[in-house]
Amino acid sequence: MTDAAPFIPGLMQDRPLLISSMLDYAAIYHPGREIVSRAVEGGIHRTSYGVARERAMRVAAALQAYGIRRGDRIGTLAWNTHRHFELFYGISGMGAVLHTVNPRLFEDQIQYIVRHGADRLLFVDPTFLPIVRRLLLHAPSVEAVILLGEASAEDREGLDGLIDYEDWIAAQPPIVGWPVLDERAASALCYTSGTTGDPKGVLYSHRSTVLHAFAAAQKSAMNIGCDDAIIAIAPMYHANAWGMAYIAAMTGAKLVLPGPRNDAENIVGLINDEGVTFACGVPTIWTNVLEHLRITGGTLPTLDRTTIGGSAVSPAMIDALAAHGVRTLHLWGMTEMSPLGVVATVTPEVAAMDAETRARQLTKQGRAQYGVELKIVDEEQRTLPHDGKAAGALWVRGPWITSAYYRREDEPLLDAEGWFPTGDIATIDPLGYMQITDRAKDIIKSGGEWISSIELENAVVAHPDIAIAAVIGVPDPRWEERPLLIVQLSEGREVSEGDIRAFLDGRVARWWVPERIEFTAAMPLTATGKIKKTALRELYAAPVHATGEAAE
Ligand code: AMP
Repeated sequence: MTDAAPFIPGLMQDRPLLISSMLDYAAIYHPGREIVSRAVEGGIHRTSYGVARERAMRVAAALQAYGIRRGDRIGTLAWNTHRHFELFYGISGMGAVLHTVNPRLFEDQIQYIVRHGADRLLFVDPTFLPIVRRLLLHAPSVEAVILLGEASAEDREGLDGLIDYEDWIAAQPPIVGWPVLDERAASALCYTSGTTGDPKGVLYSHRSTVLHAFAAAQKSAMNIGCDDAIIAIAPMYHANAWGMAYIAAMTGAKLVLPGPRNDAENIVGLINDEGVTFACGVPTIWTNVLEHLRITGGTLPTLDRTTIGGSAVSPAMIDALAAHGVRTLHLWGMTEMSPLGVVATVTPEVAAMDAETRARQLTKQGRAQYGVELKIVDEEQRTLPHDGKAAGALWVRGPWITSAYYRREDEPLLDAEGWFPTGDIATIDPLGYMQITDRAKDIIKSGGEWISSIELENAVVAHPDIAIAAVIGVPDPRWEERPLLIVQLSEGREVSEGDIRAFLDGRVARWWVPERIEFTAAMPLTATGKIKKTALRELYAAPVHATGEAAE
């Protein structure tokens, strides 16, 4: 009966959700709000949304004049700067696809990505010219390279046709108004560096990007407004700096960009000089910042809160930031999710808890935003309860979550009901807080029981002299697998294996305590600043304890 009922369309305006509209809004309602960058040339660069819009429209005009068509991929190998910000809007705004290439990947991966994306143009910071020189030999689609800053004659060697960005955009008047695109059109492309196989391209749309920015700015997530000053520490090539370039414009917040330097001195300096209230970044950034503050006696008087994600945040880090007056908003997401999935913000039920229970609750990854659906399932794909105990494979669904990888559209990715498998293992508690227990491939099975590498790492970094800890599973003849702990000590500190075991006593189950502990001076990190467990496995995965005395 209902099928036969006539369709009555709503009578609301069908205005497309376009990326360009966010910058238009910022330029009309917050024209003078600043975008402050640590310039690649050195020093601080200041501009505003009003000026950035004009320059983004020049980028669009120059791309059109060059002959770039809608849907063409345009690569960037660039730091977080005002120029990269202009490209975010100029490229997507004129209908082309912004392809942010992660310059920290292995060069063969960079070459693969640019070839696979078939980028026609590359916008490049001078730092990356050596990579580009080799890249051009392997990426025939690239017609021209546009240089975003000054480069020495030596850096330019072998790159005769380099175009100067400032001359290039100065040569065109800005376009007169942005084109009205289909909101479902592709806007940006970002490859995830899978630990196995080729990198996979996540192709965002205008619609997914705008909806994601709306959700991320909400109080239940980042709670961003025009009285905030945001520092986007997450790189623009890591899930579009977690949406910061869009969220800042949409809300009219001041935007601070750390340029080529993610060192703690630069980050702390920018936060304090620019009155930053909100930050985002992976845990390793904050490890360095906290170490820097400890050594220098520095403070962060204006910083109110920071989202931290990309890897699990330890309770010790949350406490250390709280001691500086900074609230941690634990965030979990993925490149495939634009990246926002869940954020640990406070509900009235959590606010009513005693301080200790509340603090423990907020160490979880957090609650889903409106727009993100979560489910956990067992090995038979049966849905598990949200009781905070049952751990299962985490699947997600929503309008800013990928449905397929770029140019692999014929490989089925979702289940029959449209859910995407995250590869993470999680619990969800009755209050809706999700907690990641492990990446499926990192979880350790010892004597038939699971050991959460995240929980063990968190227990270890509670030690005041340990900066970073990583736990991997190593084969064991008796227990199948045992945890192996690798630690990086805080600068100038000494800790023995025995000290660490004694510290863990009573903090984790006795059979979780690793027999083998290794010390490293520099933890290997991935191109997005996470602990590189694949490298640790290569270094340490040889079986130990052939006698099988492991968990005795
Ligand atoms: P990427 O796409 O590189 O950002 O990687 C996404 C993956 O990072 C997720 O599937 C998780 O395994 C991991 N991840 C992100 N945020 C967190 C977090 N807060 N806690 C634990 N793992 C995380």
